[in-house]
Amino acid sequence: MQLTDIRPRLLLGPGPSPVSPSILEALARPTLGHLDPQFLELMDDVADGLRLAFGTDNTMTFPVSGTGSAAMEASLVNVIEPGDTVIVASNGVFGGRLAEMSRRMGAEVVLVEAEWGRILDPDAVIDALRAHPGARALAIVLAETSTGVQQPLAEIGAAVAATDTLLVVDAVTAIGGTPVAVDGNHIDVCYAGTQKCLGVPPGLAPITFSEKAMDRIRSRTVPCASWYLDVSLLAGYLGSERKYHHTAPINMVYALHQGLSELRAEGLEARFERHARAGDRLKAGLVDRGFTLFAQEGHRLPQLTSALLPEGVDEGPLRRRLLDEYGIEVGGGLGAAKGKLWRIGLMGHGACDENVDRLLAAVDDLFGSAVA
Ligand SMILES: *Cc1c(COP(=O)(O)O)cnc(C)c1O
Repeated sequence: MQLTDIRPRLLLGPGPSPVSPSILEALARPTLGHLDPQFLELMDDVADGLRLAFGTDNTMTFPVSGTGSAAMEASLVNVIEPGDTVIVASNGVFGGRLAEMSRRMGAEVVLVEAEWGRILDPDAVIDALRAHPGARALAIVLAETSTGVQQPLAEIGAAVAATDTLLVVDAVTAIGGTPVAVDGNHIDVCYAGTQKCLGVPPGLAPITFSEKAMDRIRSRTVPCASWYLDVSLLAGYLGSERKYHHTAPINMVYALHQGLSELRAEGLEARFERHARAGDRLKAGLVDRGFTLFAQEGHRLPQLTSALLPEGVDEGPLRRRLLDEYGIEVGGGLGAAKGKLWRIGLMGHGACDENVDRLLAAVDDLFGSAVA
């Protein structure tokens, strides 16, 4: 296959999201060296843009060279030492991934679980924190892309802030679509991804560390188990020293720079409203067509709608026809929800009425022909 044969798709799945032409153009700018003063200036702008997107003043804020999962690993591996207790609050795939990674790093994982599609009860999470006062970290997902649930963090954040435990939050699907409020929620380590509501291709993963987290990292008794993701080494490149650690993915940084400039130009509040509007329109349209919304009412993500298909519909072939005949990608269910639900993303550049209407029109066509 030739690259020129690629047919564009409308990406309305759980990520990646549609990338605007201006961001694609940014990728094609001339590649610079990672120590070029021009590039270092761009990196500083990117850090500023990420602080805005995260809602933080943290100095240690940068894009990890890798996707969201690399930043998830970076968040955990920098704060965990073998034998540490880590509380993981899980109600979906990504909570499960946090637990799996923590175990591989030698942590004793205390799991607090909730049924998929429901939020974690803040009181249950806070009870676990009280029961394990020596826990190194408490990890939780803000926007669970596997179920479409938005987790309330305020009470949990306030409770963790009063302890020595660090709050680690997955904001991969939240950033740029719904508020993260790293400082407001007392989050110590927060990570994200570029390919969801920031509307940038996959390949970089924003991350930020509070002073409380950095103090903990400076007082480690054994070095971080990952050399590549070690923030104390990365600080040598990001700080005034500008020392080589690894080669930054230069052109991806251009794309993120452009994505963050567009976010700044639109304004965070306007962007959140755009996602909220599109999400509401989609949810209403799906319910009208016999779908059942899966996530707990009052805690539904605007940017990721999970909906059970009408009774008796075989979703796999329909989803394939949506892709082949209409050029629209949506996601299927994961785990227990496999074969039963669709996960529809309206993220970043993709969050608009026009895309909702295009999808709903295609669903009408498909369901009409499936029934006929
Ligand atoms: C997409 C996603 C990830 C993983 O990111 P990758 O870029 O696929 O590595 C982690 N957490 C959540 C909540 C996500 O939606």
